[in-house]
Amino acid sequence: MAKSDIVIIGSGLGGLEVALTMAKAGRHVIVLERQHQPGGCMQSYRRGRLSLDTGLHYVGGLEDDGQLQDAFLSLGLMELPWMRMDGSCFEEIHIGGRVFRWPQGIREFINAMKEYFPHEHKGLDMYGDLLASTDELWMQRTNAWDYLTSIISDSLLIQVLSAPAMCKMELTKETLPLFTFVHGTTPFIQSSWRLAGDGNMLVNRLVEQIRDLGGEVLTDKEVVLLQEGNSGITSAVCADGSIYEAGLFVSDAHPSVTCSLVGESALMKRIFRRRMSTQPNTSGIFTLHLQLRSGSLTYFNHNKVVLAGDNCWNAAVAGDLAVNGIMISARVPSKGEHVVNVDILTPMHWEVVADYAGSKLFHRPKAYRETKSEVARRCLALAETAIPGIGDMVVKSWTSTPLTYCDYNHTPEGSAFGFRKDYASPMMTIVSPRTQIPNLMMTGQSLMLHGLHGVTMTAAYTCQEINKYIISE
Ligand SMILES: Cc1cc2nc3c(=O)[nH]c(=O)nc-3n(C[C@H](O)[C@H](O)[C@H](O)COP(=O)(O)OP(=O)(O)OC[C@H]3O[C@@H](n4cnc5c(N)ncnc54)[C@H](O)[C@@H]3O)c2cc1C
Repeated sequence: MAKSDIVIIGSGLGGLEVALTMAKAGRHVIVLERQHQPGGCMQSYRRGRLSLDTGLHYVGGLEDDGQLQDAFLSLGLMELPWMRMDGSCFEEIHIGGRVFRWPQGIREFINAMKEYFPHEHKGLDMYGDLLASTDELWMQRTNAWDYLTSIISDSLLIQVLSAPAMCKMELTKETLPLFTFVHGTTPFIQSSWRLAGDGNMLVNRLVEQIRDLGGEVLTDKEVVLLQEGNSGITSAVCADGSIYEAGLFVSDAHPSVTCSLVGESALMKRIFRRRMSTQPNTSGIFTLHLQLRSGSLTYFNHNKVVLAGDNCWNAAVAGDLAVNGIMISARVPSKGEHVVNVDILTPMHWEVVADYAGSKLFHRPKAYRETKSEVARRCLALAETAIPGIGDMVVKSWTSTPLTYCDYNHTPEGSAFGFRKDYASPMMTIVSPRTQIPNLMMTGQSLMLHGLHGVTMTAAYTCQEINKYIISE
């Protein structure tokens, strides 16, 4: 039996950031990860010569005084080779045969939009003020779609302003809080960056520092039970029979998974468990990874966002293979000016793959493989409108669906961003890291915000609550 100050369940970005922060504060931490490698959505995997990324394509807010820079400095992540995306165009948006380019910097961005939409000056000024706003409580309680349509009347402009968010959050007209929309938009407009390398670089940097401080990050350790004593959790029991005791437990797993790990409990109320397990999840993402013929495509230092029609809101439809929009992201070449790996992402509803849940990785039914091929074909056809001839450049391709994320990360319904936040339900706009068990905390994208920026802010929130708990003990 191993003992430590803090056991962390799950080594996604949130789990590793909490672990490193607490290790730096002098605590002995053990991270238990069910997969064979750490990182959760941040991990990369090898296929042939390529290392393919899962949930890291670009990040915002790393400029001097940027929203994320301070946090990344203290987490030792600014030492990684971040490459700033094209200042004059980091998002290239294709809608109905027209192309709109987003420059970096809020003022530059608003001015560029005014040139495309001169009749929307007033609404765009209000939008600029919104992006710079810090009035978070108001934004938490406001519906993003209603707000956008109240200040902007040109429906094309609303699509141009929202299209890049399509693969960064679930754009649901009915529920999305303005808070989530703005936090997933502003840092990227302030400055956008790609990592010259794969997501494992970021994961490894966090893991190395945790180990240097005496902490442990253990893989192939699936926690199956959090054992409860009189006043809290006493130990985490893993599938291989190993047991880890600690004074405090922090779970980076999805909150419904966390609750399911707590067996019979005198401390965790049923209503809390029910709330965590019935809250709807955001839809997932389908990714088509392409290996391109050497020398066939020059690197482009921006994302290309292509809409099939004129609406990126409510893009993932239950049971429907339609591809309503895609984001095309190129990996920074390790040498030369040509791209070897391009990823195409599109929102995908769980219902599209739900029938195949329970099938084993690498032994999926034929119908699932056919579904993936059809969606890949549609993604590539849409990509042709932004990069003519891309289909002929492809040497090999691989795909992942919400089912992949469900199996690897144990995220219910393969949700890409965790809980669906709802502006009308304050308890579900921001979920507290505290559970009803005093020494069991949560972290990760379902609580407050998702993405690298959001999960990092959420990890800081969890650490604040941990410190309060430690002081009170
Ligand atoms: C396709 C895709 C593309 C994305 N692209 C971007 C992007 O370009 N930029 C950006 O900022 N964000 C992006 N994101 C979002 C970002 O990747 C996530 O918000 C973030 O990585 C989530 O981190 P997390 O720690 O909350 O959870 P996760 O990464 O899901 O980590 C949870 C971990 O817990 C482990 N676990 C679960 N149950 C157990 C158990 N019982 N025992 C032990 N371990 C357990 C899982 O295996 C996993 O490792 C993307 C997401 C997706 C899906």
